[in-house]
Amino acid sequence: MKIAILPGDGIGPEIVAQAVKVLKALDEHFEMEFAPVGGAGYEASGHPLPDATLKLALDADAVLFGAVGDWKYDTLDRALRPEQAILGLRQQLGLFANLRPAILYPELAGASTLKPEVVSGLDILIVRELTGDIYFGKPRGVRICPDGPFAGQQEGFDTMRYAEGEVRRIAHVAFQAAQKRQKRLTSVDKANVLETFQFWKTIMTDVHKEYPDVALDHMYVDNAAMQLVRAPKKFDVVVTGNMFGDILSDAAAMLTGSIGMLPSASLDANNKGLYEPSHGSAPDIAGKGIANPLATILSAAMMLRYSLKKEAQADRIEAAVKSVLAQGLRTPDIAEASSIKVGTDEMGDAVVKALA
Ligand code: NAD
Repeated sequence: MKIAILPGDGIGPEIVAQAVKVLKALDEHFEMEFAPVGGAGYEASGHPLPDATLKLALDADAVLFGAVGDWKYDTLDRALRPEQAILGLRQQLGLFANLRPAILYPELAGASTLKPEVVSGLDILIVRELTGDIYFGKPRGVRICPDGPFAGQQEGFDTMRYAEGEVRRIAHVAFQAAQKRQKRLTSVDKANVLETFQFWKTIMTDVHKEYPDVALDHMYVDNAAMQLVRAPKKFDVVVTGNMFGDILSDAAAMLTGSIGMLPSASLDANNKGLYEPSHGSAPDIAGKGIANPLATILSAAMMLRYSLKKEAQADRIEAAVKSVLAQGLRTPDIAEASSIKVGTDEMGDAVVKALA
C-alpha cells in the first residue's frame, strides 16, 4: 500500500513526522513517498501543487496531508497561494465528502471553553460537502458593479450553486454515516434566504425516503452555530455545504478543547481519501516544537480505517492516543495546571510507546 505524504508548511512537517513515526511503529508495511505542497511546493517548483506531487497523490492509495499556508505568501496571485494546493487536490482527486468527527475525550473536558456538563461525552460527526458551493462556483471575480446604489463602482462577487447530483451524493454519505451511529441527521442550510439551500433542503428530504431508519431534521446555519455552543450533544451527524461546513467544523473543533485534536477525512466515491488535521499551518507556533500532533495522528488512524481497511490498526492508534491523554500528557494548547507538559516530538514518542 502506497501512502503519499505531503507535509506542507508551518507546523505541517512537525506534526506529519509524528504520524509517520506512529505508522512505522505498526506491524504493517506501507510504502511512504514524500512530496512538497503549498508554500513548499511553490518554493520547490513555482507552483503550490507541483505536477509530480499531484501525480503521486493520484497514484497513491491514500494521502496524508499536513497543512499549507504562510502569511509571507499573502501577496502572491491567488492561483499561486499555498491554499490553492488543497483546493486543487480536492478537485483533482474528486474528494467531495469531508468527514470531521468532534469527540471530547473525558480527560480534556476541562480544556473545552464550554462547561464540562455541556460537552462531556460529546461525539458528533460533521459531514461537509467539499467540492462545490460558493468556494468553486463561477463566475467570480472583481468587476464594475452593474446596478443598484453602487453602480459604476468596483465590486467583488462569487457564485453559490449546487447541482442535484452533488447534493444527492453527499446526502447518501451522511445518511449512511448516521445509520452507523445514533441514526440522527441534521441538514444545515439557509433555505429561508438562499435559493441554493432551498434546493439543497428539497433534495435532502427526497433522499431521506431511502433511509427511513434515520431521523432527519433541518436547521438554519445561524441556529446551528448557536446550538453547537449551547447544546452540542443534541447533534449526532450534521451534513452541510462547503462554506457552512468550513465554519461550523471549526466551532465544533473548539468544543473538543483544541483544534489540534480534530482529524478529518476527505473521501471520493470509492473511499480513496486525503487525511489531514482540521487546523491550518499555524505559522505563529511553527518551528517551536509545541504543536499538537494528535489531530494528524488521529487522521492517520482514519486513513487506516477508511482507505486502507486496517480497522484493527486504526483502533490501536486511537487507543494509544486515549492512553497518553489518560497519562496526563498535554501539549500547551490542551494543557492545564496539573498536566505533564510535552512538546510535539515527545507527544509523538508517547503515542508510539503506548501502541506497545
Ligand atoms: P490555524 O488553524 O493555522 O491556526 C489557528 C490557531 O490555532 C493558531 O493560534 C494556531 O497556533 C492554533 N493551532 C492550529 N493548529 C494547532 C496545533 N496542531 N497545535 C496547537 N495549536 C494549533 O489557522 P489560521 O491561523 O487562520 O491560518 C494559518 C494558515 O493556515 C493560513 O495561511 C491559512 O490559509 C492556512 N490554513 C490551511 C489549512 C489547510 O492546510 N487545510 C486550513 C486552514 C488554514
